[in-house]
Amino acid sequence: MSFSHTSNSNLSTRLIKALTSEQSGLLRSVADESARLGLPLYIVGGFVRDLLLGHHGLDFDLVVEGDAIRLARAMVEKHGGKVTVHTRFRTAQWFPPPATNLPAFVDFISARSESYKLPAALPTVKPGTLTDDLSRRDFSINTLALRLDGDSFGELHDELGGLEDLQAGIVRVLHPASFMDDPTRLIRAVRYEQRYGFQIAPTTLALFPGALPIINKLSAERVRHELDLVLEEEKDACMLKRLAELGILAGVHPALKWNHSTEMRFTQGLAAVQTIEHPPSHRSLAWTLWLMDVPLPDLEGIETRLHFESGLRELLLAASALFADAKSLADKKPSRCVEILKRTPLKAVQAVSLALPAGLARRVLRDYLETWRHVKPKTTGHDLMKRGLPPGPEYKRILGTLRVAWLDGELKTEAEEVDLLETLIRA
Ligand code: ATP
Repeated sequence: MSFSHTSNSNLSTRLIKALTSEQSGLLRSVADESARLGLPLYIVGGFVRDLLLGHHGLDFDLVVEGDAIRLARAMVEKHGGKVTVHTRFRTAQWFPPPATNLPAFVDFISARSESYKLPAALPTVKPGTLTDDLSRRDFSINTLALRLDGDSFGELHDELGGLEDLQAGIVRVLHPASFMDDPTRLIRAVRYEQRYGFQIAPTTLALFPGALPIINKLSAERVRHELDLVLEEEKDACMLKRLAELGILAGVHPALKWNHSTEMRFTQGLAAVQTIEHPPSHRSLAWTLWLMDVPLPDLEGIETRLHFESGLRELLLAASALFADAKSLADKKPSRCVEILKRTPLKAVQAVSLALPAGLARRVLRDYLETWRHVKPKTTGHDLMKRGLPPGPEYKRILGTLRVAWLDGELKTEAEEVDLLETLIRA
């Protein structure tokens, strides 16, 4: 990979070209406002990294040397929209009035320095310079900044060797205690390595073993969020494989595994998702395909570690139970399969149908999803009433028997249904 830019380059042309006129207008407007307030302003992190790699993101992370909340509020006064603030970190999110081509929100960060009193805990923060702010970040490739205010628009700031690492395709932490401070960075390193086909610097990789035991100090929400981000990535399977190889999955929970059969199920299941109507969300499906063969007690252990939201928890448990039992459906009558499957949440049946290899069990689930669950006799309760039958449990028996007969292929025509109905009424 090669860039024509050096650390004192001005990337204004490249920046303008990467954005629509509305987007660059928005950045110009923030820049004008920050110049008016005398606050140096930079766009930092993933946006700059991706701009240099030729990808165009809309993640506007703006660092202000000064009070970011004041600048965000000034933008609301100028353009409208709303702002939410986090006073502890002096950050703000500005939600401009919705418009096509504009990001839904812009992050305003007051440049700060951070120190970690305890491993994996939240840091103590105090106001700082751009360099302080960049020094608290995860990897050198995320420390590039472009100045936006005044005449300096587009000026590249490479304070911590990010450009050289980006050029060489290297993921490198900024200091040896980085993973101890925040072990979510172990997962983030793998995400960048696999997403861009980069390499983790050998000195950074050498820090992994020492940080693995600290993963268990992270809260459920923080680890789950990082794994959720992995599952949103195009190269999710490669990332999970690498996380397993490096012992990170086991560091999260010993029952979190990744092997060849997991990979087949996961990739084939996700690839086939368009064959299903109204499937589970991508994230839920990815989790479910991944964890489907984990035995129940282990799955409960993983759930205790990661605290899935209740809908996903229910889906995982139901899918894992059905997956373990799916083969037994192959030699049951359709009506019996329907009886069993209707007790399982539909999304779990869908997920298992995507996970199973071609064969009888998968056919059963597909038939259930596409046809069997919709099968009803032509006769309705209304017809039975018209025949003078008093409403009661008899209705359920008769209509249920007709449905079973249709499902199991004992009825093929409406005339046959009428004959069976007569027999049932007389019985
Ligand atoms: P992505 O393309 O994955 O969204 P990003 O760089 O935009 O990448 P975010 O998760 O949006 O990543 O974070 C924004 C910036 O905040 C990062 O570029 C990085 O500089 C910093 N950052 C995020 N998480 C951490 C962390 N755990 N430790 C240190 N810095 C972090």
